[in-house]
Amino acid sequence: MIGKLLKVFYSHTRSLEMLYLIDGIKKAVRLDANYHESEKIKKFCHDQKLFLELSDFKVIKAPDAGKGGYANIVKRLPISHSEDGLYHLYISRDKNIAKFLKILENKNDDRSVGELLGYPKCCIDFFMKNRERQQKIQNDYILPTLENSNGFKFPFYTNYAMRYFDITLLSHFPHDFNCKESIAIAKKNLECIKKFDKTLAGNFENMLRNAILYTENEGVFVFKNYRLENNILEYNEILPTEKNELFKLLNQNEKIEIISKNKIKTGNKILDNAGFMVFT
Ligand SMILES: [Zn+2]
Repeated sequence: MIGKLLKVFYSHTRSLEMLYLIDGIKKAVRLDANYHESEKIKKFCHDQKLFLELSDFKVIKAPDAGKGGYANIVKRLPISHSEDGLYHLYISRDKNIAKFLKILENKNDDRSVGELLGYPKCCIDFFMKNRERQQKIQNDYILPTLENSNGFKFPFYTNYAMRYFDITLLSHFPHDFNCKESIAIAKKNLECIKKFDKTLAGNFENMLRNAILYTENEGVFVFKNYRLENNILEYNEILPTEKNELFKLLNQNEKIEIISKNKIKTGNKILDNAGFMVFT
């Protein structure tokens, strides 16, 4: 099933959203897709007896700085606009839910959209509270989530920073990396993946257990085989979103000093406003 989904939906993130929908653990999903993809997806939904609604607008993505092409910010355009854009697709087994999602998003009612998509109330509240401030930067909530979280060691279930590598068990930013409701959703999702593909589930779990250095503009860096002793992180391999100057520096030093979860030092460089997290 997952192989079949990947042929239509390409990324793991989109394919797994559909898997949760088909398996009945999600009531509705929202995806974006270009015209060509949406034609394929329409056919897929028809065959699976799923209802699909297409947005009355197109969106153009503005990729974040340092996220390997990932875009958290999108600009809406009228459907008649000549520029190629992406459509939002609202899919559900229930025709009314698909239609309702479309109407709510048209009205920019993010709270109700979140509720229909099954996000926990605590995380919707968190999103609404931080929305204005984050939309002015890159619309990414990793740092506010870290701010809300006690310490920097968390269960791998809520590792939402791996979405930049197409690996995640969540579809929303958790309000706290220890958010109980998010962990429960992620556990259910992992069980669902396991049911269809044990190897993929194992790979996901393995990849989500890591140490991560998040920066707003200079990239996201993943350390797989690391050693953390006191406040010193040692590693010999880095998975980066960007192979930039900071990546080179991290590679050369093979070591980071964790001054606080928002401040690290590597070589002579001190990074402020960063986020350091360990997911186990
Ligand atoms: Zn929450």
